Amino acid sequence: MYRLEFHLPRRYRTEQVAATDMRRISRGRENRGFFNHNGSFNVPGGQAGQERLVVNFDPVIFLASGLDPTAREEVLDHEVQHYNDFVDLVNPLRRYLQRAVRRAPWAELHAAWRWFLYDYCYASAQFHRDLGRTSVELCNSPNAPRPY
Ligand SMILES: [Zn+2]
Repeated sequence: MYRLEFHLPRRYRTEQVAATDMRRISRGRENRGFFNHNGSFNVPGGQAGQERLVVNFDPVIFLASGLDPTAREEVLDHEVQHYNDFVDLVNPLRRYLQRAVRRAPWAELHAAWRWFLYDYCYASAQFHRDLGRTSVELCNSPNAPRPY
C-alpha cells in the first residue's frame, strides 16, 4: 500500500537552448526543437506500509535559439503535438494510479509506468512516421500485462 504524490504542472514551459545543446538534450535526434516530459516514478521511502509513491513531471519544450519567427512557430507547433500526446496519456495514468495505489502490488503499479513510457514513445514514433521521417524512435513494449 502506497500514498500517491503526483506532480504535474498545468502546462509545459519553454526553454531556449543553443543548437549544439539541442543535439545533446535530444540524444542526437533533433536540431531545432525537442519535448521532454521529464517523468520519474520513485518510492523514496517512508514508514513501512505507508510508503510514498512519487510521480513527477516537468514538461519542457526546448527551442533552438536563432530560429526565425516562422521556423519558431513551426517547431513549437510540432513540439506541442508531442505535449498533447503526452497529456492524452498522462491523465489515464494518473486516474489509474489514484484508484490502484492502495490495493495494487508494486509490480502492477510499475507495469503501468512502463506502459505509459511505451505508449508515449509509440505515439511519438507514429507522429514522426506520419511526417515521413525515415528514422523514428524504437519502442520496447513491457513484458507485463497492461494494468489499465
Ligand atoms: Zn517530434
